[in-house]
Formats: sequence, structure tokens, C-alpha cells
Amino acid sequence: MDYEVIVIGGGPAGLSAALNFGRGMKRTLVIDEDKPRNRVTNESHSYLTQDGISPIEFKQKAKRDVAKYEDVSFLEDSVLDIQQCATGFEVVTQRRSFKAKQVLIATGLREKGPNISGFNEFYGQSIFYCPWCDGYEMRNRTLAIIYADEMMIHMVKLLSNFSKKLIVFTNGENNIALEDKVILDKKGIDLYTEPITQFIGDNGDLDAIKLANEKTVKVEGAFTKMDWDTHFSFLENLSIKRDENDKIEISPFGETSVEGIYIAGETKDNFAGQLIDAASNGGMVAKMMMMTQINEDF
Ligand SMILES: Cc1cc2nc3c(=O)[nH]c(=O)nc-3n(C[C@H](O)[C@H](O)[C@H](O)COP(=O)(O)OP(=O)(O)OC[C@H]3O[C@@H](n4cnc5c(N)ncnc54)[C@H](O)[C@@H]3O)c2cc1C
Repeated sequence: MDYEVIVIGGGPAGLSAALNFGRGMKRTLVIDEDKPRNRVTNESHSYLTQDGISPIEFKQKAKRDVAKYEDVSFLEDSVLDIQQCATGFEVVTQRRSFKAKQVLIATGLREKGPNISGFNEFYGQSIFYCPWCDGYEMRNRTLAIIYADEMMIHMVKLLSNFSKKLIVFTNGENNIALEDKVILDKKGIDLYTEPITQFIGDNGDLDAIKLANEKTVKVEGAFTKMDWDTHFSFLENLSIKRDENDKIEISPFGETSVEGIYIAGETKDNFAGQLIDAASNGGMVAKMMMMTQINEDF
């Protein structure tokens, strides 16, 4: 059976889109490999009516909302490729392939953290990247800020809202702008430029950061730079245009340079946001996609 829409990704962007497709009575398949970035953490904050909910429960509730609509079905699988065909697109998964007129890509971001021993043990528990998501829970603690680029002082300012006990670690980068050093000095914030060799602590609680010179610095949590991109291998065969910042180019309605392929959520931003932003954008793009289908009848 061919679908009117295939949604790739079952995070807030994909599921919010699917809810709208279901209510718009569009035959929809949601394909999700269920490895969202936020699976490493226990609580999600800032989503009105759902503040503090676990990511697992949030997703279960969202899927229950969508499952009420008979036109939407779910498949847990990984998409490997998307090919253009006479009727639209053929989406190839690990196990089979499916056809649809339109495809919505809501697969979030590919994410890489710093390559430091112990990182995975603490990421999502006491090491984060988003002060608006997790700053409140880390308030008033001694916090490491692991940044070396032009975002360092921005993060210092932002995190100073949540704690006055901040320490900057550049993880091996010595080339720090003089004006940044002046700001850190003025605020009495220590700066360590040695490479970090290890995160130390227990049960997800970070206690200390070990440096290459064997020095150990006591901390109670950290915010670190992460690397994100949207170079999913399943996109390789589509010549989707990107802008000079590597963002996928889209129309105001979320359509990419390949007619019929849309993107939503963090895939659209090429940068981390919040659940509520992704859900809102997924719903908006779904309505625009349906309007395109409706317009074809006139
Ligand atoms: C540690 C951490 C803490 C966070 N805390 C908060 C918080 O407190 N509050 C908040 O609002 N936000 C928080 N976030 C951010 C939030 O998780 C994201 O903003 C949101 O999940 C983005 O939604 P999305 O739908 O764009 O992508 P995602 O939620 O990442 O969903 C993408 C889905 O696509 C699937 N997928 C990817 N590739 C494929 C493929 N090839 N085939 C099939 N499926 C695929 C993935 O497995 C995933 O299920 C946090 C994130 C992290 C990492």
C-alpha cells in the first residue's frame, strides 16, 4: 500500500506532525528507530503541562495521542535511503521499502560529545549542554563550562544566571582572546587550559575533572559544547541544497530543494532546541504539507 505521507523520526517534531496528519485523514506511516538524543536523561523540562516528565513517558503519551487516528501507523525501523520514483518517493528501511507522495524528515540531529573518558556516564545526568533545559536543576552548584570558542563567554553569562560558582575549561585550547580573559578575571572565574583526561564521579554525579597535568578540579556538574549536524546517510542520494552554514535550505513551509521532501524540528534548525519548539514546528509543517496536497485537487 502506498502512503500519502511518510514521517521519518518519532520525536516531538515527527509525532506532532503525525497527530496533524491523522486528524487531516492522510494515510501516514511514521518510521522511527527510537534512539532520540534525550534518551540519556531522566527528566524533560519547560514543556508547558509536561514539565519534569521523563522522555520515555513523554514519547509514550505522544504516541497514544497519535494512535487514536486510524490513518496513522507506526514502524520501528531505521531508514537507510530515500529514492525518487514516479509516484513520489521510495523510502528504504533496514527491512523493506515503502512509497509515499510526500516525506517529512524529523530525525533530529547527529550528535557528538567531547571525546573524554567518563563522558557517557555523566551526560544527561550531571553534564548537559542546555542551560534553559537543565540549568535550574544545577542551580547554585560549582559548574564546569567546557568551551574554547566564541561561545565561551556567552555560556559564562548564561550560566551565571543559575550559579555564581563557575570554572572554565578549554580542554587544551590556549588561544583565548584577551577580552575574554579580562571578563573571566573581572568575575573571578578560574580558567584551565590543559586537556581534560577524565570525568570523575559516581552514579551519574560528576565530582571532579582530571587534567593532563594530573591536577584534579572539584566540580558538581558541567555544561559542555556538543557537535551537531544533519548529514544523515539516508540523505546522501538526494541532492538537497544546504546554505553556507550547512543548514538544509527550506521554503517558509519547510519544503527542501527537492519538491515533496520536507524537514521539521531540530533537523530544520541544524542546532539543538527544545521539545516544545520541535513539536510546534512539526505541527506547522504537517499542515503546510497537507495544504499542498489539497491544492493539487483544485
Ligand atoms: C541531555 C538532553 C537533555 C535535554 N533536556 C531537555 C529538556 O529538559 N527540555 C526540552 O524541551 N528539551 C530537552 N532536550 C532537547 C530535546 O530532546 C530536543 O529538542 C527534541 O527531542 C528534538 O525533537 P526532534 O523531534 O527534532 O528530534 P528527536 O527527539 O531527536 O527525534 C528524532 C527521532 O528520529 C529517529 N531517527 C533518527 N534517524 C533515523 C533513521 N535513519 N530512521 C528512523 N528514525 C530515525 C531518532 O531515533 C529519534 O527517535 C534535551 C536533549 C538532550 C540530549
